[in-house]
Amino acid sequence: MSLPDSLVRLVEELQRLPGIGPKGAQRLAFHILRTPREEADRLVAAVREVKERVTYCSVCNNITDVDPCAYCSNAGRDHRVICVVEEPQNVTAVEKTRDFKGVYHVLMGALSPLQGVGPDDLKIKGLLSRVTNGVGEVILATNPNVEGEATAIYLARLLKPLGVRVTRIAMGLPVGGDLEYVDEITMHKALEGRREV
Ligand SMILES: [Zn+2]
Repeated sequence: MSLPDSLVRLVEELQRLPGIGPKGAQRLAFHILRTPREEADRLVAAVREVKERVTYCSVCNNITDVDPCAYCSNAGRDHRVICVVEEPQNVTAVEKTRDFKGVYHVLMGALSPLQGVGPDDLKIKGLLSRVTNGVGEVILATNPNVEGEATAIYLARLLKPLGVRVTRIAMGLPVGGDLEYVDEITMHKALEGRREV
């Protein structure tokens, strides 16, 4: 049985999404087909809105729909403590612990010679200029894997001469892991147990 062209196109588009194979894409496409019109319209509108409205914060590079983002513009947060993470979704992992009251800096990746990612590909310059403006501590919360470690070591070497306290989150985190999948208790312990580097 061959599928209508429009359904085939939907399957093809869904299959481009990370973690979605051919079978999963087909299941989703049939689900959307059975979905009431209004629900499908909401999905389309949400996709369009995220592309139109969501941008990156000009201070910390976090995803936001207002610039500067809600963390950077919040006077209630401690702007002297910067938590450095690799990706915007890592901010969510740290926020879930509810005990970090500082601000963030998103690098948009990690050093990876194998994948051709060097220091110039990361948002490092902005971090250095923020630090020279009276920051007391930089917490390196890059992922506990080879790339994250290399990035933390590289940044520590750049930051320490600027006279700022540089700490690394505790490695009670599963080695080789990704902060995105860490539960909030582990993340809380990692933050609490951070050490000076
Ligand atoms: Zn920001």
